[in-house]
Amino acid sequence: MIVEMRQGATQAEVQAVIARAEGYGFSTQLNVGTDKVVVAVLGSNTGQVSTDNFAVLPGVESVTRIMRPYKLASHEFKKEPSQVQVGDVTIGGNRVVVIAGPCSIESYEQLSATARHVQSVGARMLRGGAFKPRSSPFSFQGLRDEGLQLLADVKAETGLPVVSEITDPHLLDVMVDYVDVLQIGARNMQNYSLLRAVGSSGKPCILKRGLASTVTEWLQAADYLLAAGDGQVILCERGIRTFEDSTRFTLDISAVGVVKRYSHLPVIVDPSHAAGHYALVPTLARAAVAAGADGLLIEVHPDPANALSDGLQSLTFSDMGRLMLELKAIAAAVGREL
Ligand code: PEP
Ligand code: MN
Repeated sequence: MIVEMRQGATQAEVQAVIARAEGYGFSTQLNVGTDKVVVAVLGSNTGQVSTDNFAVLPGVESVTRIMRPYKLASHEFKKEPSQVQVGDVTIGGNRVVVIAGPCSIESYEQLSATARHVQSVGARMLRGGAFKPRSSPFSFQGLRDEGLQLLADVKAETGLPVVSEITDPHLLDVMVDYVDVLQIGARNMQNYSLLRAVGSSGKPCILKRGLASTVTEWLQAADYLLAAGDGQVILCERGIRTFEDSTRFTLDISAVGVVKRYSHLPVIVDPSHAAGHYALVPTLARAAVAAGADGLLIEVHPDPANALSDGLQSLTFSDMGRLMLELKAIAAAVGREL
């Protein structure tokens, strides 16, 4: 951490910065320039101390980090890329894993038909929401326990591992019996009691990026999961809120590269919630595979026009089949399988 003192800061103010650093067990190095003094705060755990604790001291101009504020999710902590194993599916290996299914589970017929179709075109896992975090309390909230049972039935039928969103820690006891991968939604990325509960559940999880969160905050959230559990964390970029309003969210494709650079965790992309419209989903999905994503999470529905949630961004069966062929070619071009 680098603490830059104001021009004219007193010796006592510099001493107070040094004393605070030493109080945390850090050492310091002083750089006395012609105009101002810069204090380098050194130690392997400086990432765990807020920069505010120094910025608040009298005479301090600015505080800049050198260590990143996340630890367990960082490349420094673990050099080799992590892989998450779900049954016989590996996320973070050479194969790009496609996870597909409806936004909400609506009926046995809907879920089973979708699962069989996406499996036939190469998806390796089934997604489906049973508990839906909707922006309005008057919107469809999901089939809840009945939805979980349908997920289990369709899993038994197809053998596809299943992914579903957990919206509250109290749902954990029931969900662990039905779901192979717990999804933490964008709106819950900073729900720390949920992160702790999911982290200690022993289940792999998909951590969506908060819709207004930086990559750093996302990796800090991953640290909660990793600190509580055994490291089965998959990151999912799903678009962030920007001034652009021609898509539902702005897919931050660069986040794939940023995560690969700074973290060992696998990262997948959800083109559906970013695009918000079925016509744009293939563009974003193709870009994600080209960018090096380890997988995709795609909404597919047998009858999008009558879907109970997110119909506009859901692909039809034929659109999904066509997209999978394109993705196979792109994966091969970047040295991967799909
Ligand atoms: C979903 O996957 O259906 C969902 C609600 O996603 P997000 O949390 O990214 O909005
Ligand atoms: Mn959805």
